[in-house]
Amino acid sequence: MIRPLIAGNWKLHNTTRQAEVLIMELRELVKGVDLPEIAIAPPFTAMHHLSHLVAGSPIKLCAQDVFWEKSGAFTGEISAEMLRDVGCEYVIVGHSERRATFHETDEVVNKKLLAALREGLKPIFCIGETLEEREMEETLSVVKRQLNEGLKGVLDGQMKDVVIAYEPIWAIGTGRAATPEQAEDVHNAVRNYLYDIFGLEPARGTRILYGGSVKPENIDSLMAQPNIDGALVGGASLKAPDFARIIRFQHT
Ligand code: PEP
Repeated sequence: MIRPLIAGNWKLHNTTRQAEVLIMELRELVKGVDLPEIAIAPPFTAMHHLSHLVAGSPIKLCAQDVFWEKSGAFTGEISAEMLRDVGCEYVIVGHSERRATFHETDEVVNKKLLAALREGLKPIFCIGETLEEREMEETLSVVKRQLNEGLKGVLDGQMKDVVIAYEPIWAIGTGRAATPEQAEDVHNAVRNYLYDIFGLEPARGTRILYGGSVKPENIDSLMAQPNIDGALVGGASLKAPDFARIIRFQHT
């Protein structure tokens, strides 16, 4: 069985002090949790401080972005090695907000994903369609293109460190989550596509998370789907009780 992963993306929220308060509350609420892996993606500025506060807890650290070069004249950027240095294990690549606001192309996302793997970070690779693309029935062709381009150069053996997050853009931050059936259709197609590219073991073993307005009220029905292996959570990860309830989803 695949071990589920519940990851919280804090985005542009929380000073170091606010991050400390939130993580300490969450630590208490997830004591004893061992089924899903838990990851938190705070702003870079809080990462080092949080690395001490999550020690000895089930909470892992995740970065919200990474640059693909190791070092050099790249003002403002952070390398995968620097993230490892502050105790990071996961990194989000290809989030739709970075694709849209910062014009990240599939090629850029691929460079980031490869750089993460090279340095021993586990990428959480986001894919997903716009509302317009869904209405034009282009969802599967869009996610296949993103997978094809984003996973270029990844070896079969590296897929054990890759997590895919299907995040329909129309569901992110809107309160309108995909239905469990809509999400499962895409997750199933993603898994079949991974089988076509990498074969049986990587396709079976790769975690495919759902993201987009995940809340305490919908996590159980999403997690009941056979191809949903966890969640990437934005807004609800900023409230410790809500995020803890998502982590403690009910199994069926
Ligand atoms: C996200 O930003 O990845 C996300 C899923 O946000 P939200 O849960 O707020 O929709």
